[in-house]
Amino acid sequence: MPGHRSLLLRTSWRAVLQDAKPQSIVRKYGTVAESPAITTPQSSVFEDALAASSPRNNWTKDEIKQIYDTPLMKLAFAAGTVHRKFHNPGAIQMCTLMNIKTGGCSEDCSYCAQSSRYNTGLKASKMVTVDSVLAAARIAKDNGSTRFCMGAAWRDMRGRKTNLKNIKEMVNGVKSMGMEVCVTLGMIDLEQAKELKEAGLTAYNHNVDTSREHYPSVITTRSYDERLQTIQNVREAGLNVCTGGILGLGEKPKDHIGLIHTVATLPSHPESFPVNTLVPIKGTPLGNNAPSPFDATLRTIATARMVMPRTIIRLAAGRTTLTEEQQILCFMAGANAVFTGEKMLTTACNGWDEDREMFEKWGLRPMASFEVEALRELVSSSAPLDGQAAEESLKSQPVA
Ligand code: SF4
Repeated sequence: MPGHRSLLLRTSWRAVLQDAKPQSIVRKYGTVAESPAITTPQSSVFEDALAASSPRNNWTKDEIKQIYDTPLMKLAFAAGTVHRKFHNPGAIQMCTLMNIKTGGCSEDCSYCAQSSRYNTGLKASKMVTVDSVLAAARIAKDNGSTRFCMGAAWRDMRGRKTNLKNIKEMVNGVKSMGMEVCVTLGMIDLEQAKELKEAGLTAYNHNVDTSREHYPSVITTRSYDERLQTIQNVREAGLNVCTGGILGLGEKPKDHIGLIHTVATLPSHPESFPVNTLVPIKGTPLGNNAPSPFDATLRTIATARMVMPRTIIRLAAGRTTLTEEQQILCFMAGANAVFTGEKMLTTACNGWDEDREMFEKWGLRPMASFEVEALRELVSSSAPLDGQAAEESLKSQPVA
């Protein structure tokens, strides 16, 4: 029944091509008797995001949902295309995160080993010395990390003058090694943010964790708006904002959309967006949560890349649960930073040797310090970075 076969082929190719926009890239094969009808593709949120040449921050939740709900392979491929337009796809930022003050925190974040409200077996300790931080930063630098982050387990910086003085010394010391420096110190006011900026801080991390709607079921001791206020203080002080979330907190896909919507509609997109997956800690309220599925991680990364094309997307906590191939899929879909080293706050972390091996195998390289900023200076702020072309130009630039 050759006629029947040809009809089947035509029908199945039409179904495939309907999904493969733009339709101008139709190829003919010998068994297809006639070209399928070519209709003008309808502009959609997805296609607009794919074609965008600059970031926008007036996203609606419905628009982000349309992108998030795209079939996953199509979404990941498109996100990879956007990634290649705005970044060098072969460069991954390596960050090391050190806990400078462990445990004893008054907050009730239901995922956290360091909250004093839960019996997790973690021993609280005082703030570490400036010298020990600088020694750790040197080791991180020698192993290829170019961003050094320091975290302290407390609610905020109120009344912590001596701590702030020591932290500024740490920031200054790490910065003078040529590394990017980030801290995560809970809530801070504008004055404290300015002091940190003057000390040489590059970025401040303060995650919103999840959507505004799901947030109260995770944390009750500080509000979503308090988090956003700290982020505003950081931005106003001229620091880069690092803010992201955690998957696996018992949320729904609509909360991933809500999380991305929160950060993508800030006055400017965060410089970096960490995507964590819950590492369940025994003794915490979320200690028995089921692991967040990988497709949710990939979908969140790909959507974030489409919606915030210039932002660095960081594969953060929970990376140890991913296979190498899963990590590579995340890098293809837009992730371009990792935490690496001996430990990530209180949880396990992929080590430098393991990452170096993975990078070599897959043709990746660690991002240089301040590379993204240097790349941006090479092109106008409204144009895409064109990662490969910028990489060529960057070779002649003195980047640390
Ligand atoms: S996440 Fe931070 S603020 Fe929340 S309990 Fe842990 S250390 Fe405290």
